[in-house]
Amino acid sequence: MSEREKMLVQKISDGTVIDHVSAGRALSVLRLLSDPQDRGVTVALVMNVESSKMGRKDILKVEGVELTDEQIQKLALIAPLASVNIIRSYKVSKKKRAVLPKTITGVLRCTATTCVSVREKDSVPSVFFLVSTLPLVYRCKYCGRDLSEREISGELG
Ligand SMILES: [Zn+2]
Repeated sequence: MSEREKMLVQKISDGTVIDHVSAGRALSVLRLLSDPQDRGVTVALVMNVESSKMGRKDILKVEGVELTDEQIQKLALIAPLASVNIIRSYKVSKKKRAVLPKTITGVLRCTATTCVSVREKDSVPSVFFLVSTLPLVYRCKYCGRDLSEREISGELG
């Protein structure tokens, strides 16, 4: 990590640092994390940082909140390369990788209007299977419609 990068990633005492978010996705991640209960949470965004691995990336620092596994799963859909550092007393206490779920239920919406999960969404929850990670593709269990990375980010962000 360069000096400049260190400066940008100022330490927080307790919370979560989400690193390696694709450049331009930080705001989608922020929307994903914001919950009416979380009002008052301080979030620092560092956007468009140079990264040796990714070219450009975004970083989010969320004070006082530790991401749940469910949030990390959703995070993976928006930022597949993200790494999650849980911070306690200024130290990294846990590192987690965003891992794309093989099956995801009740989170994504099928884009086919004729799909049973759309027509009967109250009784038939959406189910999508991971088909490909690069590029990201999820396929509807019911009608076979594929969702692209852009569509998935659009739905979640
Ligand atoms: Zn469908």
